[in-house]
Amino acid sequence: MEYKSDIEIARGAQKRPIQEIGAKLGIDSDDLLPYGHDKAKVSQRLIDSVQDRKDGKLILVTAINPTPAGEGKTTTTVGLGDGLNAIGKNAAICIREASLGPCFGMKGGAAGGGYAQVVPMEDMNLHFTGDFHAITSAHNLLSAMIDNHIYWGNALEIDIRRVAWRRVLDMNDRALRQITASLGGVANGFPREAGFDITVASEVMAILCLARNLDDLQKRLGDIIVAYRRDRSPVYCRDIKADGAMTVLLKDAMQPNLVQTLENNPAFVHGGPFANIAHGCNSVTATTTALKLADYVVTEAGFGADLGAEKFMNIKCRKADLAPSCVVVVATVRAMKMNGGVGKADLGAENVDAVNAGCPNLGRHIENVKSFGVPVVVAINHFVTDTDAEVAAVKAYVETQGSEAILCKHWALGSEGTTELATRVAQIADADEANFSPIYPDDMSLFDKIDTIAKRIYRADEVIADSKIRDQLKKWEEQGYGDLPVCMAKTQYSFSTDPTLRGAPTGHAVPVREVRLSAGAGFIVAICGEIMTMPGLPRVPSAEQIMLNDAGEIEGLF
Ligand code: ADP
Ligand code: MG
Repeated sequence: MEYKSDIEIARGAQKRPIQEIGAKLGIDSDDLLPYGHDKAKVSQRLIDSVQDRKDGKLILVTAINPTPAGEGKTTTTVGLGDGLNAIGKNAAICIREASLGPCFGMKGGAAGGGYAQVVPMEDMNLHFTGDFHAITSAHNLLSAMIDNHIYWGNALEIDIRRVAWRRVLDMNDRALRQITASLGGVANGFPREAGFDITVASEVMAILCLARNLDDLQKRLGDIIVAYRRDRSPVYCRDIKADGAMTVLLKDAMQPNLVQTLENNPAFVHGGPFANIAHGCNSVTATTTALKLADYVVTEAGFGADLGAEKFMNIKCRKADLAPSCVVVVATVRAMKMNGGVGKADLGAENVDAVNAGCPNLGRHIENVKSFGVPVVVAINHFVTDTDAEVAAVKAYVETQGSEAILCKHWALGSEGTTELATRVAQIADADEANFSPIYPDDMSLFDKIDTIAKRIYRADEVIADSKIRDQLKKWEEQGYGDLPVCMAKTQYSFSTDPTLRGAPTGHAVPVREVRLSAGAGFIVAICGEIMTMPGLPRVPSAEQIMLNDAGEIEGLF
């Protein structure tokens, strides 16, 4: 049987004007700032006017440790949102915007898949409403102002060997990872080493996603540490006087974007921080606004639950006073097989033993999520190659864990494939069973926070960090950063820091290679393993397949 590609399905969407989608949430058309006919930003006036309302129920979609293609978290988020609407609930979804890097590289887009997608998927995966361009500009304005400050006499006494603020570009471009800037003579400044990161790795992106409003945005931008002096004292963005102009550039980008699913239900698509050196979820403004407008809000966290859900709970929910009512852990038969030791090339063949061997990975994620005090349901995202015996094996295993797994066919069927999941999730959320709390308090020492995550979530025996790292953490505590949460950066493929160690490993150590302070975003990044902040393109990038057809339509996005 031939299946339609994501873009073919998206192109066949019966889209409704964006004003009709807004009306479903009670948004007056005056409060929508339209970008064409099918996208709009929500006005600040509306956001201000709904603040006193009661919040809807927040539902997080997360997953087991994934295969390289992803496990369908976004697809399931969209499918569950449509499922809730199909059973008569007033539900909205909140997901991240797409980065051009992965879109032209290997991973593809971020709009979901099959019959569970957000449209217009072409726009969403490309320039969309310009938010990432605004973030790129704001970031690079600060970069330019730092070098300009040095050029005009360096009154702040920045040590040009210790400029921490790099430049960004929303592209996978390994050639720019390390560069020499200011070459070409006296008129061009003082030569120094510099480099580029991808826009989604920018601290400005993380700040935009965690800021509650424009005042908070400007304060956090001002708090960014851009460089150090020879005596190692920090120089802030505020000292460079860039925070005001950056806020101006980000003013519109702070407004959440409203689009629709294939089934014409409201979808907020806003912000897109990396899930390794940042926290990996859509903006706080989108989530908090959606909660005021809908009875149920389904949102997604990047990577597996060991990274995504952990940061969602310990960073985003803590900082934005959010509390999830229910967590959906997405599992796929193919990822279970991979966690059970099967290679990528052999995922197509039935292998119940491998599914069973991979199940402990799922079991540990279920247990971890429950340890935050939130009830869990497993969604088996059905692939057409899955056999009944494999699906039955997952269901049976989940039952032994005191949870339930529900087979979902939203990729093939849309909301029809998720009504059972939606009914159960709504029941759980309505029962108010959750008793959410982050797994460490603000006042725990920074090292103990890392240790807590490593032991309780990754089930490691120990954290390895040399005295340089421990001293740095202590110094930040002395400087008043001790109450910040920790943002772990490690591989998404394993509970451990070794991507090949699948399943539910124990007895491993978590080596912390480096720690960084994101003073504006408000977290300490603990880097465990190789983390790429400027990815490269693969040997055959997706860009080679992306083109306009004779009808002027875009081909090759997925
Ligand atoms: P994640 O959010 O977990 O990274 P996505 O939802 O973006 O994953 O899905 C990754 C890719 O897998 C997309 O191209 C999507 O179309 C595809 N996909 C998701 N679910 C299914 C499914 N049930 N069958 C086939 N392909 C799927
Ligand atoms: Mg996703």
